[in-house]
Amino acid sequence: MQPLAERLRPRTLDEYIGQKHLVGPGAILRKMIDAGRISSFILWGPPGVGKTTLAQIIANKLETPFYTLSAVTSGVKDVREVIDRAKSNRFFSQSSPILFIDEIHRLSPVVEEILYPALEDFQIDIMIGEGPAARSIKLDLKPFTLIGATTRAGMLTNPLRARFGIVAQLQFYSNEDLAKIVKRSAKLLNVQIDEDGAFEVARRSRGTPRIANRLLRRVRDYAQVKYDGVVTREVCLLYTSPSPRDA
Ligand code: ADP
Repeated sequence: MQPLAERLRPRTLDEYIGQKHLVGPGAILRKMIDAGRISSFILWGPPGVGKTTLAQIIANKLETPFYTLSAVTSGVKDVREVIDRAKSNRFFSQSSPILFIDEIHRLSPVVEEILYPALEDFQIDIMIGEGPAARSIKLDLKPFTLIGATTRAGMLTNPLRARFGIVAQLQFYSNEDLAKIVKRSAKLLNVQIDEDGAFEVARRSRGTPRIANRLLRRVRDYAQVKYDGVVTREVCLLYTSPSPRDA
């Protein structure tokens, strides 16, 4: 069975609530998606506001393979491997595969250096041989699109930033939108919740869907133990989170 967080992740734009300035009718990302072609861009916003989710939805919609790398743990080898896998993918799609790099502001300079030619000229340098006989050859790549996610757009290096046309900023969610997310998650988790309960969970989630989903599960457990399992405003008010960070 899929991990819970994955089960709650929206798969389509219709399920993706909020961020209308980016994906609403006529908005910048929506136009690209509707045209069926996207260029590389950056998603910028705090943790848990839906960057990864949006990138995956775009890949689903364009029916293109989706590869993920974390800038924090990936080295040159991982990047080459992923690019190589993307190259050999026989998946039929009109649009190029999407490479999603999380926390892209933390890419090491060496990795950035192999990414630039890959992005611009669809070429990648590969070392063959070892020791003094080692030499570098250029391999042609199929075009791919890079979506970078960052919580700190100010930390992107200028050369990296200059390579992306768009830096799309995600916003915190209104309580109304968060309440919709909470109700959708409750349905998927088979949790009974009333309007006021959903709004109370939303109000305590600091504008962030990931926090809202986590809090919903905690309050659900609490409601099951202490009450008859229904999440109401009263249950939410009685529930005190273990620590402010976990709320
Ligand atoms: P980020 O990549 O910005 O850290 P994620 O995309 O992983 O955040 O989102 C965290 C969780 O929040 C997802 O698993 C999903 O369930 C939920 N979520 C995020 N954005 C939305 C949204 N717009 N609508 C509904 N649920 C969302």
